[in-house]
Amino acid sequence: MKIRALFRIIKILFKGYSVFREMNLPPKKRQASCNKRFLKQVKTRAFQTAFYPSHFERNKVNIEDIQSINDIAKLPITTKNDLRNNAEGVTCKALNRNNAITMATSGSTGVPTTVYRDDSWISGFIGSLIFCKRMHKINSVKIGLILDVSTQNSIESKMITFGKYLAKRLFILDMNREISDMMDELEKSDINYMITYTGVMRELANLRLAGRGQNLKFKKIFLSGEILDNYTRELVEKAFDCKCYSVYISTEGGFIAAECEQKQMHVFSNSVHVEIVDNDGKPVNYGEIGTITLTGLDNGFGSKIIRYAGCADAGSLINVQCSCGLQTPILGTILGRKIDTIHLRNGQIFHPFTMTGLMEKIQREYANDRIRQYQIVQESLDLITINLVRNTQFVKTHENLEDLVSLIRNKYQFWVNNAIEFDVNEVVSIPKGNNIGMPTPLVISKLQLNGA
Ligand SMILES: [Zn+2]
Repeated sequence: MKIRALFRIIKILFKGYSVFREMNLPPKKRQASCNKRFLKQVKTRAFQTAFYPSHFERNKVNIEDIQSINDIAKLPITTKNDLRNNAEGVTCKALNRNNAITMATSGSTGVPTTVYRDDSWISGFIGSLIFCKRMHKINSVKIGLILDVSTQNSIESKMITFGKYLAKRLFILDMNREISDMMDELEKSDINYMITYTGVMRELANLRLAGRGQNLKFKKIFLSGEILDNYTRELVEKAFDCKCYSVYISTEGGFIAAECEQKQMHVFSNSVHVEIVDNDGKPVNYGEIGTITLTGLDNGFGSKIIRYAGCADAGSLINVQCSCGLQTPILGTILGRKIDTIHLRNGQIFHPFTMTGLMEKIQREYANDRIRQYQIVQESLDLITINLVRNTQFVKTHENLEDLVSLIRNKYQFWVNNAIEFDVNEVVSIPKGNNIGMPTPLVISKLQLNGA
């Protein structure tokens, strides 16, 4: 039995290394391998699921028309509801459920969706991890991970399992611990690379700027889980005196992309194909913002995602040659979850990035880092609440809270031309969001929108 398990792990790692090698091929050869994976995924495997044949038929797709990855737009979009309602139907009949791992996607509705992953998917994930490791020339093996390890079936718990094969020493901390305890533990740990959520690192950066954790010396910091706004990036880089990079991971899509040393977001295109589409599912041009749509290329028997738009992230692809030399597709912008856009009664829509951008400006130009944490909540079409947690040193001073509150309120109110009411409040802490294994989001919308 043990020999069988060992053989399985060797096979997973070997296949993972093959995916990594495919990613390093010259562009034409790499695209050819993506094409091969895509056709295999669509033409063979999709017929082995209960969901896709009827999904294609309903959308009048003739599978014979799909001759290459360039025909992908002829296929219908798979929505979050499709996945939620067909958790079993999107898996292949040949899936060995004894060996499959299950993961729960976080849902805006609070209803998780189960996805099944088999060894091929794990190999693809590992291939991307190796690629990222090489991209950043990470030779050291002291890697720190602060993750939500409370959920067994989350992508985080799987990352820990797979990461152990790649790093001789992983230092894992649960994000639900007190932030100052975490700082103490990190200081004792002697790690030099850090992987965690943007929200957690923002807190740690504030603590470090307040004088704690001075012995920590990171070479690089990798952040995921929410959009990495410029203010947070600058704050973290200043606090820890090292570069910080964004990585894009989701339960449905796996390890999708990561920033290289030039801070370009390279897509791991041999394990997941990324498209940007408009509201009708049609691809948009380079540089245009649309919905990030994912097609898994792992060719396993687990849950299939073909043109999956259910992550609901908005973003763009850009047509540039990165000076790092890697020639993979590049994501220009990731704007975060579309469902958390802010809608005004007059029809104006603001992406979360725009909302946080104004807070960055206020922080930098007026508020002088008084704010430790904040959250912008759209309560209704008439009201947005901004909750603030101030930095401890400012709470203790005699500074007038009202000045800060009215400054923020006035800036936002002026910015939207009074089209919506802003209510700014100081709070002791900001509650954790509903999404499993994710940090507290900066922007939340409570509006019930179509398709959300
Ligand atoms: Zn690059």
